[in-house]
Amino acid sequence: MITQKLNTDKSGIETACQILKNGGVVGIPTETVYGLAANAFNPKAIEKIFGAKGRPQDNPLIVHIAEIETVYEIAKDIPKTALICAEKFWPGPLTIVLNKTNKIPDCVSAGLSTVAIRMPSNQTAREVISKSGLPLAAPSANISGSPSPTTAEHVVNDLDGKIDAVLMGENCNVGVESTVISLAGEKPVLLRPGGITLEQLREILPDITVNKAVLSELESGETAASPGMKYKHYAPKTETFLVEGENFADFVNQKSNAVAVCFAEEESDISIPKIIYGEKAHPETLAQNIFSVLREVDNSNTKYAYIHAPEKDGIGLAVYNRLIRAAAFKVIKL
Ligand code: AMP
Ligand code: MG
Repeated sequence: MITQKLNTDKSGIETACQILKNGGVVGIPTETVYGLAANAFNPKAIEKIFGAKGRPQDNPLIVHIAEIETVYEIAKDIPKTALICAEKFWPGPLTIVLNKTNKIPDCVSAGLSTVAIRMPSNQTAREVISKSGLPLAAPSANISGSPSPTTAEHVVNDLDGKIDAVLMGENCNVGVESTVISLAGEKPVLLRPGGITLEQLREILPDITVNKAVLSELESGETAASPGMKYKHYAPKTETFLVEGENFADFVNQKSNAVAVCFAEEESDISIPKIIYGEKAHPETLAQNIFSVLREVDNSNTKYAYIHAPEKDGIGLAVYNRLIRAAAFKVIKL
């Protein structure tokens, strides 16, 4: 298959919409990461997403919408809190899990009785959803398990020849995937941290709890509330460790055959090969760069990578959550 590289102008967007209406799959920019989109109502199109990514069949997809009315078509038993969250955080990087209607095929929800819904703010994504007239199921547009794509080039590197088209848009400005919360149960639960922080959510949902899988590994046999959280994820091929604590420079300077992934503030103290992933003082920069940096780690041709862990608050919680998975839960505490 030849993958069309489309501009994000009117004609590129029209071509993308036509492909989606015909049951094809298209890489699209969003503010979080690039998504691999297909018509959420068409099981054959959804199958193509799972095939191209090599995504496990039991990992459900997020449905992207452009109008609040679509929520009533695809979800039921909608609590008032969902509408308050939508009002406050949509369009934007928040995904809300609700009970689903029969309009959502089982392959989208991976057999669950719930559906995950998000309204993105990226202009190109919004136009594609509106002009196609379709809710779009879209996971991240990468090969399953590899770092998520935050540039159009990342999508091409992973999926060229496997998907119908990519809209070659701008780099993603949030840089990590959406925050996922469930409002389908008795109490609100944070399933995955992301661009909307736990602190922001607590202002509206004071009783929100954090699912165990956010910060730790599930025991074998334990059921995942969010199936995506049980998989090895975001991982470079290089053996990667997450390092917590202050004396990162002293620690990595004793390592050989290794690359250090560090904050800009400590760069000058580090004497081994290094990659800066942003400023500790501005954790949103860590989120913006982390997935590109995880891809770069493999270009350093070292055996090991040591990544300095961010603080676990604000957007840092989302970065930490991705990094413990990239490190396959190998955490070194200094
Ligand atoms: P991705 O598409 O790569 O951003 O992954 C989507 C994430 O949303 C995964 O972690 C899924 O497990 C999670 N998710 C999607 N649908 C549901 C659902 N119905 N219930 C719980 N988690 C979900
Ligand atoms: Mg993903």
